[in-house]
Amino acid sequence: MSDRTNDIRAVLANIETFLRQEQALFGDLLYRGGVEQKESNLMAQRKTKSAPSVHEPVDLFGEIPKPDSSGARAPLHGVRPYPAEPWTSAPSVDELNKQTCECLKCPLGLTRIKFVFGVGNPHADIVVVGEAPGADEDAKGEPFVGRAGQLLNKILEAIQFKREEVFICNILKCRPPNNRDPLPEEIESCEPYLWKQLELIKPKMILCLGRIAGQSLLKTNEALGLLRGKFHDYRGIKLMVTYHPAALLRNPNWKKPAWEDVQLFRKEYDRMKSES
Ligand code: URA
Repeated sequence: MSDRTNDIRAVLANIETFLRQEQALFGDLLYRGGVEQKESNLMAQRKTKSAPSVHEPVDLFGEIPKPDSSGARAPLHGVRPYPAEPWTSAPSVDELNKQTCECLKCPLGLTRIKFVFGVGNPHADIVVVGEAPGADEDAKGEPFVGRAGQLLNKILEAIQFKREEVFICNILKCRPPNNRDPLPEEIESCEPYLWKQLELIKPKMILCLGRIAGQSLLKTNEALGLLRGKFHDYRGIKLMVTYHPAALLRNPNWKKPAWEDVQLFRKEYDRMKSES
């Protein structure tokens, strides 16, 4: 292949990386204004759409609707009821793992090596939610064990949490081929497992890593740039969305805002602990 072809390929790869980063930050809308315009739009949206204040009283562990015998899927604040399946009565996190680990509800069950349920303290104060297992996680059956996982360990250490002390899991329990984004129907069939994990663990706070985790749990299409940096309410639990460690590996410019997010997260955790 000629040098010229290689150069063109390299330029196209850079453009693609840039566009993906823009999409992760600002959503699917094509950006047309100048940088300042974009920043000020973002700030204006942040002001008008602010999440509940961290000091608002919360309804700790709101009810997740039980299976509906009619089979109807009545939305409750955009949340579907649990499917009518036996694992919804699992009494513990361990039992839930045993009852779900052979899942074949979506085609990813046929291509996975291992079901990646989640790992950590089943009574953790903190649950960390990623997107989906990658190749390393699929091989080991444990979330966040590859390069992104090593960075996650460092981030947790930096805010004085040990990996074993928190619970780490993903929106999807099986690896999408070639690490593509989860499909809406995959999220739809897998996310109830996460709801049940959260119901059993009853964490004080949730840290979502990346757009997919944040948008799925919060049932929103808002871009990561708008979701991050503040607390949201997930069924009475404080939830923060920040950058995915894999995105931080690709774009070190996001490390500073990610660091600010996790420091805020730790501060709020300390505040809640001091009051309990
Ligand atoms: N990325 C994720 O979102 N989850 C993992 O478990 C690993 C990488």
